[in-house]
Amino acid sequence: MDLPEALGSLKPTLLIYQTLSTPIWVFDFEAMSVIWANSGALELWDAASCTELASRKMGRDTTATVTDHLTNIRAQLHRNTSYFDRWTIYPRGVPRHCFLEYRGIQLDDGRDAMLVECLGQDLHSNSETLRSTEALRHTSLMISMYSADMDLLYCNPAARTMLPVQLSNLADHFIEPLDWKSVQDNVTGTDQFQIEALVNTATGPKRHKLHFRQSRDALTGQNSLLVSETDITRLHNGARDSHMQARTDSLTGFANRLYLHEQLAEISTRPGVSVGVIYIDLDRFKNINDSLGHSVGDKLLVRVAETISQCADKQLTLVRLGGDEFLLLLESVEDYSYLTALSECIIDKLNSPIAIDGSMLRVTPSIGICIYPQDAGDAETLLQHADIAMYQSKGNGGNQYRIFNDQMLVDVKHRTQLEQELALAIKHEQFILEYQPRFNIDGNTIAGAEALIRWKHPVRGLLYPGSFIEVAEETGLINELGDWVLREGARQAAYWNRIGLGIRVSVNISARQFSARSFVDDVKRVLHDTGCPARLLEVELTESMLIDDIPHVAAVLERLHKIGVRTAIDDFGTGYSNLFYLQSFEIDCLKIDKAFVQSIDKPAILNMILSLGKMLNMTVVAEGIETHDQLDWLQKNGCNELQGFYLAKPMSAARLEKRLAANTKASKPTRTIDLVDA
Ligand code: C2E
Ligand code: CA
Ligand code: CA
Repeated sequence: MDLPEALGSLKPTLLIYQTLSTPIWVFDFEAMSVIWANSGALELWDAASCTELASRKMGRDTTATVTDHLTNIRAQLHRNTSYFDRWTIYPRGVPRHCFLEYRGIQLDDGRDAMLVECLGQDLHSNSETLRSTEALRHTSLMISMYSADMDLLYCNPAARTMLPVQLSNLADHFIEPLDWKSVQDNVTGTDQFQIEALVNTATGPKRHKLHFRQSRDALTGQNSLLVSETDITRLHNGARDSHMQARTDSLTGFANRLYLHEQLAEISTRPGVSVGVIYIDLDRFKNINDSLGHSVGDKLLVRVAETISQCADKQLTLVRLGGDEFLLLLESVEDYSYLTALSECIIDKLNSPIAIDGSMLRVTPSIGICIYPQDAGDAETLLQHADIAMYQSKGNGGNQYRIFNDQMLVDVKHRTQLEQELALAIKHEQFILEYQPRFNIDGNTIAGAEALIRWKHPVRGLLYPGSFIEVAEETGLINELGDWVLREGARQAAYWNRIGLGIRVSVNISARQFSARSFVDDVKRVLHDTGCPARLLEVELTESMLIDDIPHVAAVLERLHKIGVRTAIDDFGTGYSNLFYLQSFEIDCLKIDKAFVQSIDKPAILNMILSLGKMLNMTVVAEGIETHDQLDWLQKNGCNELQGFYLAKPMSAARLEKRLAANTKASKPTRTIDLVDA
């Protein structure tokens, strides 16, 4: 007997097999060929010799199912089991349906091979049976059959490859008890049904779609269950991934608005459920984006999200609503105590600076708290009310939390009404300017006047800026309003100048107006249109307008200076002026905030501002003078100009005009001031 070298040690066994008439051969998995065959096998394979049979490369026309099946056989044989199978071989293209027994063997060089014995051929089945058997063997659909006790009766090659080796009962196939229960429930009632479930397989847990059908075991005639399954793991994971992706905020990785809405919709269908929300908005976050750029802003948002989530010890959902708005969602809350504690933690944590790209940044939150169902009847209202409460925190200076209450709704209604009326008021010319005189150090002669806006409200009477300027600023109406004030103030100054009563008129400028790129051009156009000499117009700015974008501010002040328009810093001492820039900015005047004027018993800051003004060669104006003592002190300490109710209240243009006219006529001052001590 001519034996391949690798079969040397098997020689005695093969010699015996050589004498048997049953076809027996050795199949080499790696070479994918028959490396030895007895005479019966040579006949079955229609081969002239072992060498000829060995030269047939079976791998060449092997289908995917055959490869899978061989891999499966190899895996099973490796575990030292013998194995029966029906298999069709195609010697010289002619099908032969064989009942085979495989046995794993090891070749001399250590490789795996199998010894195959053909126990017989199926010569009786009709073509239909043969084809259907083949189809069952080669389909990738995993088909198995179970007895009434759910014991495994049969599985096709695809199912055999997939099922864990030790699986003998259908119950063990399922990972989730609920899935198995659903199978049991359905089996008793329905003829066929389908489920998707997480199942145990030879390669670990997989998601399968399983179709069940009641049938009979052809062998025993007993009821059986036919199961066909397909692997939908990838499909499922893909769908789950894209589902999750659509519900995740791409910047922070926390949930997004879509997730929140679905979650709220789902929760609110449950009877007796309660939901607490904490609505968080960062204060002045826009400043960070504007001054440090969006990339720093984004990094900060990520850190803020992490910080917020650190406060939540219970199972909470953190949602980024967009921009600098976040929301915490908590189920089953009875009262506000946990929500307020959480809010305090968030405020506390955010108050410590966060290091981003070498800068220490601090953002404070404004927080609104609201509970469903006590504060809001549905999900949408819940979010709305939390937003309103958050807004109240912001309106009160931020860095705090507020619990929603019904009064807030009333306030919001008033505000909305105010916004609408304000927009109409501009159209219907319901605004007027009053003028408050600014006196020279003698407290008698008028150096100028500050234009102060008033709203002649058709129902509520004369309204002061305190009740509407903020709303105008927030809604952007201030632009239109500010333009009007500037033009009207300049028109008045020009008129007084023409009739020989020329005084300087100061106009308050809002941050929005000042930051508009066209500001200086707007001022120029107003001067041109009204004929107001530039030296008779002063713009009052606040310190906060001067700290952002310093090069731009410096350029604007420089241009105003060049055209001759005066500039004043209003409410000086309350903001955070950078003294370094103060000396390089073109500024004519400092207006000491009335709070300092009204506390002359503690004159440290007053003294400081007065000397600062002297050093920087700026006019210092004291405003809000209400008493003789205040006036006296300021005059004695050399404050350049004086303004306040004690000297004159804001008045109509007509009244001021009369006063100016009387002043110019009068030869003697109406108030005598003793300047000796000054
Ligand atoms: P402000 O620029 O500090 O104006 C001075 C405010 O102090 C005025 O209040 C004035 O009536 C008040 N005042 C003057 N003397 C005294 C005093 O002796 N004691 C006290 N307690 N108050 C005094 P008003 O007219 O209610 O204006 C309030 C604020 O509204 C102004 O503060 C200014 O910031 C803003 N405002 C007024 N008019 C305009 C405007 O046309 N445009 C802009 N953007 N803001 C304006
Ligand atoms: Ca002012
Ligand atoms: Ca002021």
